Amino acid sequence: MIVTRFAPSPTGYLHIGGLRTALYSFLWARRNGGKFLLRIEDTDLARNSKEAAEAIVEAFKWVGLTHDGDILYQSERFDIYKSYVQKLLDTGKAYKCYMSKEELDALRVEQMAKKERTRYDGRYRDFTGTPPLGVEPVIRIKAPLDGQISFVDGVKGEVTFNAKDMLDDFIIARSDGTPTYNFVVTIDDALMGVTEVIRGDDHLSNTPKQIVVYEALGFKIPRFHHVPMILNPEGKKLSKRDGATDVMEYQKEGYLSETLLNFLIRLGWSHGDQEIFSLEEMQAFFDPCDINKSASAYNKEKLLWLNTHYIKTLPAERLIKELKFFGVDISLHNKKIEIIDALRERAKTIKEFAAMVEQIITVPQAYDEGAVAKFLSGNAMDILEMYLQALHKESTIENASAFEQFTKAFLEEKGLKLKDLAQSIRIAMVGSAVSPSIFEILAIIGYDKVKQRIQKLISYKRSLS
Ligand code: GLU
Repeated sequence: MIVTRFAPSPTGYLHIGGLRTALYSFLWARRNGGKFLLRIEDTDLARNSKEAAEAIVEAFKWVGLTHDGDILYQSERFDIYKSYVQKLLDTGKAYKCYMSKEELDALRVEQMAKKERTRYDGRYRDFTGTPPLGVEPVIRIKAPLDGQISFVDGVKGEVTFNAKDMLDDFIIARSDGTPTYNFVVTIDDALMGVTEVIRGDDHLSNTPKQIVVYEALGFKIPRFHHVPMILNPEGKKLSKRDGATDVMEYQKEGYLSETLLNFLIRLGWSHGDQEIFSLEEMQAFFDPCDINKSASAYNKEKLLWLNTHYIKTLPAERLIKELKFFGVDISLHNKKIEIIDALRERAKTIKEFAAMVEQIITVPQAYDEGAVAKFLSGNAMDILEMYLQALHKESTIENASAFEQFTKAFLEEKGLKLKDLAQSIRIAMVGSAVSPSIFEILAIIGYDKVKQRIQKLISYKRSLS
């Protein structure tokens, strides 16, 4: 069975780069009917890991990712790690090192002077003497001193490290007994039965160390897939300003979860030239072996393009639900479908969408001064008043095409053009000269309220003069 995992360090939110590796791991497990596990790497205890886990679960929930089983917290597993440290000590695969900080510093200075790689020199590796007094030892693992460590990475192909260049007898437990990063990651991955590790390639240099631990304990080495980083459009590391933020920020900015997943899966993976993927398609097609070898650049236009795609195509009911996040609830509005359909082509984000809906469903509280000055000059108000009088003569007007017919007949009779009236109607309806097709808007607002809004603008205009 394929078992993957996502192993974030607790930052208090889920970063989009993290969501991408989580997504890849999730998809690969689901595609194979395997398991996708979640582990919080909270060994330094500096941050609140429960909050961090909640933030991740919240973000997973938003995008529709689910993990299997309970969340594992490294901070709760110190006894397990200690027992494996002891096991390595007992089998002679690890040893106590009594080197003081001063000695270690002196060694570093010496190696730097000789332009050598700074590394532990193994001086306690075969030590049998009496340990120096008053020094709490660290525990070091015996790493290969020469030769190579190779593995086949699903993304990078065969990766080989020379032990001499990469390794030394690294510390697996500090002098206070706490285990170190590469050690606990390995123990957990092995005990959790992880068969495939998908993670950022910033972890590539940790892998030979982890392999040393796997081998020392006789654990089966998983398959690794090191995913290239997401870069900004200038080819540099993605910063917060570029969009490397909390996944939930994307919701606050009005992106749909479909957009974000679709965006992230394509940032580093492709399936022919297909751009749009449903979650089901992602699950059916994703294979970590197709992850791109080179880094991908974050592209904000693409993100917006995907968002407009989903806003145009998702069912209206779904969009109505999304609007609530921005405090706009039209679920009981009798024209809710018409509202969505009139506006969905125009909104790039749900946030924008909500603002547009709000404009239509509420009577304008203020009017765009620029638009008033520009469009309500000359005889515009007289025309609007005549239009209102004509409207009063009707008993009702049902729909957009009836509004169109009515308006065209009115204009023809008066020898006017649509441009003589359209902007005034827009300002009356939504407070500004920007709105979708006026006839659709008139139909949505409805005959009675249309008259009220026109009357309100007329009164406002009169109060100015
Ligand atoms: N905790 C590491 C991180 O957040 C991930 C470790 C791993 O995936 O092996 O970058």
